[in-house]
Amino acid sequence: MKEFCASEIVPKTEKLEDTRKMPKDIIKTLANFELLGMVIDPEYGGLGTDVVTAGIAVEELARADPSCSIPVLFLVGTSWGHVLNKYGTEEAKKEILPKAIKGEQIIGIATTESDIGSDLGSMKTKISKKGDKYVVNGEKMYISGVAEAVEYGGGHVTLAKMTPEKGTRGMSLFYLPLKDTPGITPTYVEDIGREAISCGGFDIKNVEIPKHYLIGEENKGFYIVHEGYELARGLISLVCAGAAAKALENGIAYIKERKAFGRPIGKYEGIQFKLAEHHVRIQALRDLGYKALWTYDQEIQGNASRFDVSMAIAMAKSVAPIWAFDAINDVMQWQGAFGYTKECEDQKAWRAVRSFTLAEGSSEIMKLIIARELLGKEFLAYR
Ligand SMILES: Cc1cc2nc3c(=O)[nH]c(=O)nc-3n(C[C@H](O)[C@H](O)[C@H](O)COP(=O)(O)OP(=O)(O)OC[C@H]3O[C@@H](n4cnc5c(N)ncnc54)[C@H](O)[C@@H]3O)c2cc1C
Repeated sequence: MKEFCASEIVPKTEKLEDTRKMPKDIIKTLANFELLGMVIDPEYGGLGTDVVTAGIAVEELARADPSCSIPVLFLVGTSWGHVLNKYGTEEAKKEILPKAIKGEQIIGIATTESDIGSDLGSMKTKISKKGDKYVVNGEKMYISGVAEAVEYGGGHVTLAKMTPEKGTRGMSLFYLPLKDTPGITPTYVEDIGREAISCGGFDIKNVEIPKHYLIGEENKGFYIVHEGYELARGLISLVCAGAAAKALENGIAYIKERKAFGRPIGKYEGIQFKLAEHHVRIQALRDLGYKALWTYDQEIQGNASRFDVSMAIAMAKSVAPIWAFDAINDVMQWQGAFGYTKECEDQKAWRAVRSFTLAEGSSEIMKLIIARELLGKEFLAYR
């Protein structure tokens, strides 16, 4: 991964944030190195690795791409590819996975709507049966990878209400292709970071999907979607660790050279203490992130429970973007006025990791999960 990133990724990242859409040649580059189907079964063209190995890949991608756009493309495809691989119908898997693995289509996730994000049980989008098909109506918003799916091909693993009176027990998960789908109208928003992966939404008006696009059983979508979210959150922890570690390396090089009051600023305790604190946090974050993904692997092998996974993942994701943001912020501070310019590579990472206090589950929701595991479900505020 280190050699691949140095030769294939780093040279492609300089102007990446100007694109507002992942360049197709980067998707192909990832596919050619067999990164787009790491955890997918070999019968569909994947490598069938464990998720810890995907964590190693994404950590390196984050070190290579300060905008974190490439890691986001990777982690979304990995997590929701895994969900399709595990719960999708045979027909859907044969149709979708080989194309995603070859970089001909992307796979994203769509649960958030304009009015709800954390509170999935209050979503408005509905899916209902119509003969041998399903019909979907509603909208999704703040979704990564919309432009790529609309233009290059692919779609989003999508959550909607099927039996509204049952709340979260009445939601279903399905694959929704976006390219040339009648009834899909995309819209776009401008993120303040990770600009090279698009963010947007889509209106869904009487969109018909075939039955084989259902993922898992009807009305089980709320539970299945969390398996994807947990994998994504674990990978995000390592994106944050990789981005912060790279920034700290940049910072170390800078404070050894930059002089103030007659000596390198790295000689001052005020700088050294911060450096030491961030180094410890980044190492702790790597431990938390890999432990979380290892626990995920253990659950796949039947050696850990879903609760073990929820706890380990939430612990890592609750601190990852905050610790990474703080570390990168101090690296920018060490660089003085230069650190506040667009020339400074670290500001890209600073803007990117900030997204992860929200994306794939907010920091506050991670703490609710940890507290739920410690106190018991009867202490959930919304029960
Ligand atoms: C860059 C980016 C990319 C994204 N990509 C995707 C994507 O691809 N697919 C997708 O479906 N979504 C995506 N999202 C949306 C993301 O999942 C949501 O932003 C997130 O779930 C929070 O939902 P919300 O923004 O609606 O905030 P809300 O749920 O409205 O919450 C608002 C604030 O209140 C806090 N809060 C809510 N409930 C509680 C509580 N009980 N206790 C304490 N605090 C609480 C939240 O933590 C948050 O800080 C993306 C978001 C960003 C920023």
